[in-house]
Order: sequence, then structure tokens, then C-alpha cells
Amino acid sequence: MCPECGSAEVAIEEYDFGVCRQTGYHDAGERFRCRACGATGDASDLGPCNSISVGSSEP
Ligand SMILES: [Zn+2]
Repeated sequence: MCPECGSAEVAIEEYDFGVCRQTGYHDAGERFRCRACGATGDASDLGPCNSISVGSSEP
């Protein structure tokens, strides 16, 4: 759910800008946009009700 207002009206949007020529990092992932309050941010900031486990490489 939205970390700003707690609404469940959150849309997940994938983005992929390719490899940044300046940093060499692959700039891609998922972002959210809240339909209730308009907040946007990284999808990983969403509440635990989301099943985001793709690409997790934490030790
Ligand atoms: Zn919100």
C-alpha cells in the first residue's frame, strides 16, 4: 500500500532506461504511483502486501 497515505490504490509501473552511459549502471526496476494521493517512488518502498521478490540479491 501507499507509504504516504496508506491507500491500496497503487499502480506499479516498470521502467527500463537501459544502461546509463555516465554510470554504467542498468537503470531499470519498478516504481509505484498512488492513485489516491499521487505519490510516486520506488516499488520497494511499498508495504509488505506486495510480492516484490524479483532480482533480490541481498546477502
Ligand atoms: Zn497515497
